[in-house]
Amino acid sequence: MAIHEVRMPGRILYGRGSFAEVGRMAASLGKKVLIVSDPIMDRMGNVAACEQYLSEQGIPCAKYVGVDSEPTDRHVDEALTMCRERGCDTLVAVGGGSCLDTAKAAAVLMTNGGHIRDYVGSHKPFANKPLPLIAVPTTAGTGSEVTKVTVIIDTEQDVKMMLARPELLPAVAIVDPILSLSCPPSVTAATGVDALCHAMEAFISRCAQPVTDAWALQAIELIMKNLRLAYEQGDNLEAREQMALASMLAGAAFSNASVTLVHGMSRPIGAMFHVPHGVSNAMLLPAVLEFTKESALERLAIIGRIIASDGTGRSEAETVDKLILEIKRLCRDLQIPNVKTWGIDKTRWNQVVSKMAADALASGSPGNHPRIPTHDELVQLY
Ligand code: NAD
Repeated sequence: MAIHEVRMPGRILYGRGSFAEVGRMAASLGKKVLIVSDPIMDRMGNVAACEQYLSEQGIPCAKYVGVDSEPTDRHVDEALTMCRERGCDTLVAVGGGSCLDTAKAAAVLMTNGGHIRDYVGSHKPFANKPLPLIAVPTTAGTGSEVTKVTVIIDTEQDVKMMLARPELLPAVAIVDPILSLSCPPSVTAATGVDALCHAMEAFISRCAQPVTDAWALQAIELIMKNLRLAYEQGDNLEAREQMALASMLAGAAFSNASVTLVHGMSRPIGAMFHVPHGVSNAMLLPAVLEFTKESALERLAIIGRIIASDGTGRSEAETVDKLILEIKRLCRDLQIPNVKTWGIDKTRWNQVVSKMAADALASGSPGNHPRIPTHDELVQLY
């Protein structure tokens, strides 16, 4: 067997009520915390709860609650300014992937300076370790709490920048499924399909390895058993708990094995049309699977046997066809909008499709796909 490496956060706490540990974790990392969150989390009391847990351990804090969905470099700058002005040495992000990613980027700039754009690709190393981050997800989707990735929109170039480096791993991940109980069905659906894409892409990635295979397959099974339940019964804590676990496993899988074509193509849609990340993934997944099936038949059939479990006696090709049908059915059941129902303007789409294809290729993710597309094939797929 080849030599492989997996990278994970320093500590992972997960399970019901684990959020209450945030104060104890912060006390082990620094002296003053910046909480990075969004207005919805603030209104729901999650930020106040975090302040309370920190104060119980004698940790003072400031808060930045201005993050928006699909965060931009402006949100990063605002969080950074607050962090500097208030003299914070530790960050706690409470929210969906948008809050976690904003905090990761701010943590890097606090110790390294410059603009987050400077660090895309391998242009510039991080000279200094980022500030420590405690990542507390409230959605079950991105897995950002265990990934070495941050995704931030560059508002100058309308590009979703993806940075992937081990230094971006949070010091601590706290995965408390109770926090996801309040997710509305549309967020549950989109984020759940995002996690499914992470797991499927990690499993068919050219960089897949035995450990990420195990995490990815376990995540797929958990998602297929629990996503519909969590969507239909938002207060089903058991389903939420299994989805939180699945999202974390899928995140760990793709962080160590890479995402591939769906994510590569999804980011430009997010940057150009501000479609939520999970929704744009769902828009692409069936077409990308069709494009891929001949090149990854064996691995896709393994996924197909989990997702379409009644498939005894089917050939690999039939299993993959059934898989694609099941994915379409799942997205329909979860009422995830498609390009038309989301209301994307066709003229504008045609104007930017070539740029989207170029941006997708430049992101590097399609290079890990079993069938590496050309620019023209990407335009066709879009
Ligand atoms: P999000 O963070 O944008 O949240 C979506 C909406 O749901 C927001 O309005 C938020 O306030 C709300 N919300 C979140 N949790 C809630 C809760 N418990 N109750 C009620 N409302 C809640 O969505 P997301 O899908 O978690 O994150 C998307 C971002 O993450 C995108 O920018 C995407 O590119 C990025 N991403 C990052 C990684 C990574 O590894 N860093 C991986 C995948 C995606």
